[in-house]
Amino acid sequence: MVKSLAPLFDLQNIARVLITGNGLAGQDILSVSQFDRETLSYIFGRAREMREMVKKIGGADLLKGYVLTCLFYEPSTRTSASFIAAMERLGGSVIPITQGVQFSSVSKGETLADTIRTLEQYSDVIVLRHPDIGSAQTAADYADIPIINAGDGTGEHPTQALLDLFTIREELGTVDGLKVAMVGDLRYGRTVHSLTKLLVQYDVSLRFVSPEILRMPMVIMNEIIDAGMDVRETHDVADVIENADVLYVTRVQKERFTDLAQYEEVKDQYEITPEIMEKAKDKMIVLHPLPRVGEIHYAVDHDPRAAYFRQVKNGMYIRMALLAGVLGKA
Ligand code: ASP
Repeated sequence: MVKSLAPLFDLQNIARVLITGNGLAGQDILSVSQFDRETLSYIFGRAREMREMVKKIGGADLLKGYVLTCLFYEPSTRTSASFIAAMERLGGSVIPITQGVQFSSVSKGETLADTIRTLEQYSDVIVLRHPDIGSAQTAADYADIPIINAGDGTGEHPTQALLDLFTIREELGTVDGLKVAMVGDLRYGRTVHSLTKLLVQYDVSLRFVSPEILRMPMVIMNEIIDAGMDVRETHDVADVIENADVLYVTRVQKERFTDLAQYEEVKDQYEITPEIMEKAKDKMIVLHPLPRVGEIHYAVDHDPRAAYFRQVKNGMYIRMALLAGVLGKA
């Protein structure tokens, strides 16, 4: 007797998941400005579920049959690896163009638009890192599938800001009421641009510590001021260390300087050492988007307040939540 086979696809179920997902299904992720607090809390809830699932069983089949293309025109370790890990832990596959676009047709002069229109033929979602501000938006203008901005030059790095905020929330239990100090290259650092824009939605005090030439861009300062936030700028970590709940340290972005002599002048201005940590609150956390090139002394790594490697791990859970979200798997 021939047994009746279960349908290969549960069409009703597929239709249901595509219209749920708190508005993320089919969306591009280009800027943090597109997230309201409700969506943030949805993403963080999903990231927690992903963390539990990974701890218990390592992975799932949620994105089986889906393909992610990672297209990176700039170097990356954490963003590319965590997106790949996220996709694979959810049962999907990856086309990794992360080891240098010099091996792709980009080196033959292909435009971003044509590269995107080609890669979307093979994939369901594209994660793009590119040196030009606005490149993710350009890619999204051409693509019919979701584009996730993994850094557009000195513009934004929205998925990093989501994992930064998630880490603050998980480490300190709340975001509202905190004093967040950002240290280093606030001019060229896209991670601090995105994190600041995201924090505008919360009741936090901001302290910006940078050399004069690396101050937070005026356009972002205006957003903060318009939101009525408590914000102060200084050149000295000593001015903020005692009161900070979060110390977000960044690398001076050498690759963005046109005058390397200027880079040399500011590159070693800050180093967080165990002596500096002695002055900080017991419950303060140190974050860094990494890579570090001297801004945090290795001796600080043993301090339980050094949260930057826990932050790295959170990146995978957040990106699992985002991939599931944009692919309609609520
Ligand atoms: N990894 C981060 C970024 O891609 C921070 C950095 O490179 O300093 O923006």
